[in-house]
Amino acid sequence: MIRYYSTRDPHKNLVRFEEALLKGLAPDGGLYIPNRIPKIEPEAWLEARSIAEVGIAVLGTWLKDEIPATDLEAIVRDALNFPCPLVPLSDDLFVLELFHGPTLSFKDFGARTMARLMQYFLRQRGERRIILVATSGDTGSAVADGFAGQDNIEVVLLYPKGMVSEVQERQLITERPGVRSFAVEGTFDDCQRMVKEAFVDPELAHLPLSSANSINIGRLLPQALYYLWAARQVNSLGERVGAEINFCVPSGNLGNLTAGILAALMGQPVHKFIAAHNDNHFFPDFLQGKAEAYQFHPTIATLSNAMDVGSPSNFERLYTLLGPEKLRAWVWGTTVSNEATLARMKKTHQTCGYMACPHTAVGLEAQARYRAQTADPTPTISLACAHPAKFPEVVFSALGQEPPPEQALQVLYNRPTRVQTIGPTLQALKAFLL
Ligand SMILES: *Cc1c(COP(=O)(O)O)cnc(C)c1O
Repeated sequence: MIRYYSTRDPHKNLVRFEEALLKGLAPDGGLYIPNRIPKIEPEAWLEARSIAEVGIAVLGTWLKDEIPATDLEAIVRDALNFPCPLVPLSDDLFVLELFHGPTLSFKDFGARTMARLMQYFLRQRGERRIILVATSGDTGSAVADGFAGQDNIEVVLLYPKGMVSEVQERQLITERPGVRSFAVEGTFDDCQRMVKEAFVDPELAHLPLSSANSINIGRLLPQALYYLWAARQVNSLGERVGAEINFCVPSGNLGNLTAGILAALMGQPVHKFIAAHNDNHFFPDFLQGKAEAYQFHPTIATLSNAMDVGSPSNFERLYTLLGPEKLRAWVWGTTVSNEATLARMKKTHQTCGYMACPHTAVGLEAQARYRAQTADPTPTISLACAHPAKFPEVVFSALGQEPPPEQALQVLYNRPTRVQTIGPTLQALKAFLL
């Protein structure tokens, strides 16, 4: 049986997945991690024809004593009902497009699956929840979309005012049943801090608060699936079943990278992870062993705004899972400036005909640097995190042309919006919650 304990609990008290999912953050402020990671034989997903089928096999192993197989299958098929294609850019470099879900970023995988899992458990318990989400752009819309209209769940979104793109903002403030959006006069870190403070505030203790940030283990497990699915596709192309690959992960809060590490610990051979960061360089500093690494930094606003995180929450989880030596040996990191991001968008478009969003471009630039520095010939999968049409301004400044219009975004402009601006304090948030 797989159980979960808090990264801050010296006694490693175990809770069920149901509890870890519904709580999000552990009561001691730590993050839940599994007490063991099941080894999943490649056969379990080698025959899969879709990511949903990978999900049924893999999540089935994780959750088998908590959710009956038929219920889980229905949840996974309903959640992961969109494609995730692998696009070759060269013989040994592939882009995994994770932006074909309803809100056009990889956040849809975790949010949609988590919403359905939560709904499943809440219905059984006859309970309700208020989900607090701090978002740097994409999480909020994915969560709002994934949870909207569930009568036992309300969603409260906090995003940094003026620090998300126009399209992202439109996605966040589009009116949805059961969703309230707040534009916070501060940074993503302020939003994240307000959420964390709300959880431990005695005056809010009577509210059934829960979180849906990537601190929730219920988002990370579904994200591990696309690593397995992509590896399977690359390896079956070259009939290199079970061979090692590299993954390049554009990173902010380090949830996606943690999901990749989980996939690797489940048995997918990974030679190197490449952690691609923008000017928010906490994690690359840590990997390079810089002395000041353990100090978190204030957030710096960049063109890849969904990765603008000065103090990544999942660092604590990664650190506890692997420890510093293993982390430094397995993960190679670099930081990519705005100029280098734009240059890589342009180069990728010119040489491969591929239009990358700024986050994806940070990854492509990082993997190019890694190759140049190491000459490592291992085939690499670089994650494409969001659709370029979400960032038309950045695409235009890199390429001199706008991305083609995207139906899923255009319909948003005909829908009513609802948003309230608040200061960056718990007090301001509390006024609405109470
Ligand atoms: C959330 C997000 C990231 C960063 O992912 P983390 O799990 O926070 O590291 C990167 N790119 C896009 C487009 C995102 O939405």
